[in-house]
This record gives sequence, structure tokens and C-alpha cells, in this order.
Amino acid sequence: MKGNDLDDNYRHKGLRKKLVEELRSKGIRSEDVLDAINKVPRHLFMDTGFLNYAYKDQAFPIGAGQTISQPYTVAFQTELLDVKKGDKVLEIGTGSGYQTAVLLELGARVFTIERQKELFLNSQALLTRLGYHPRFFYGDGYKGLPAFAPFDKILITAAAAEIPDTLIRQLKTGGILVAPVGGETQEMTRVIKHGRDDIEITKHGYFVFVPMMKGTSYKK
Ligand code: SAH
Repeated sequence: MKGNDLDDNYRHKGLRKKLVEELRSKGIRSEDVLDAINKVPRHLFMDTGFLNYAYKDQAFPIGAGQTISQPYTVAFQTELLDVKKGDKVLEIGTGSGYQTAVLLELGARVFTIERQKELFLNSQALLTRLGYHPRFFYGDGYKGLPAFAPFDKILITAAAAEIPDTLIRQLKTGGILVAPVGGETQEMTRVIKHGRDDIEITKHGYFVFVPMMKGTSYKK
């Protein structure tokens, strides 16, 4: 790291501690998840002009019509995913890269896909500078990454109209997929794959995400 544009000072750290306490009071229980949130400098994932919003529990625009998810939502999805050290995790919707960093702090090996070229390039540059090393893919998350399957966990961070079958197929037996499923508002859905044709689905409340889109932002 060079220069102070990636500054993470005592003020940021103090604000982050407060955010962690807020998430705890809202019901996030996993100490591992709270620790991960406490470690990731969320302000660096947003435009500098929005610094004052970085540690509020709110979603925020990140360009290309997309948003960085609300910290509570990131924590909630991550908790449902039950990430263990060394888990091979497929993330769909890199966006700002914030959720990716949280997964990496939990010790996961992360494969992350983004369909918007600008966000793909920006998050790749930023995460690399911050010392986070997922494997980055530019493409359509609906297809998953068959060449790298199966995964222990799959996390979708955009609203899916339904649970994509292709992705369930790329999950290991015993694996977990978490996705917001629905139209204008979505139900947070967790799928546990007990066997090839044996999946257990549970619902965990309503959220609002930007839609999961087919294809990529650039025509071939
Ligand atoms: N996890 C992100 C949240 C980003 S919002 C963060 O922490 O910032 C959802 C992201 O999903 C957007 O960047 C959007 O471009 C992306 N997306 C939507 N449909 C997709 C698809 N089919 N494949 C890959 N990414 C997709």
C-alpha cells in the first residue's frame, strides 16, 4: 500500500466497532462474522465523498446502477452461509467487492463473478491493493463456474427470480446456497443440498436487492 488514499485510521476503526455493536443488537450472533465485519475497511469500498455513510447500516450506490449491500444484509447472508475456514465459496455479484472481503476474512477461498465490466475492473483493482485475493471472473453468474465446481457454499448477492438449478448442481453434497429470491422484494432463501435430488429450502425474511441479470454488460 502506498500513499494515504487507503488510510484506515483510529476514527474509521472506532466507527466500525460501533457498526459491529449495531449489527449485534440487530440479531447477528456469529462472532466470526462480526469479527470479519470489524476487519474490513468498508469506507474504502465507497467513493470518498460518501465517507460519512460508510459505517451507517445502509446500502449505497457504487456506480453502474449498482449498490454496496447494507452491512446488516452482508452479515445476515454470511451468517446463513455458515462459512468455515477453507470453504470453497462461489459469490455471484462482486459489486464493490465488500462482501468478497468479508468472506475472505472468514478464511474462505472465494471465486467471485461480476457481469458489469466497470465494477469487475474496479473491485479487482481495489481488493488486490488491499491484499485480498479471491479469483475474479467476468461473466454471467447464472452459469456459475462449472470448471471449478463443486463448491461448499454459493452466495448470490443480487435478486434471483428463482433458485438457479445450474447453481444447485455446482454445490457439493452438504453444501449451502444463500440467495434473495423473488421480484420487487425478495425472500432470503437458504438451500441445503443433502443429496443430488434432495434439497432443503428455508426462508429467512424479506430484503431488497438489485436484480440478477442474464448475460454480461458488454456484447460479444
Ligand atoms: N456483494 C456486493 C453487492 C453488489 S449488488 C457488494 O458487497 O458490494 C449486486 C451485484 O450483482 C451488482 O454488481 C450486479 O452487477 C451483479 N450481478 C447482477 N446479475 C449478475 C449475474 N448474472 N452475474 C454476475 N453478477 C451479477
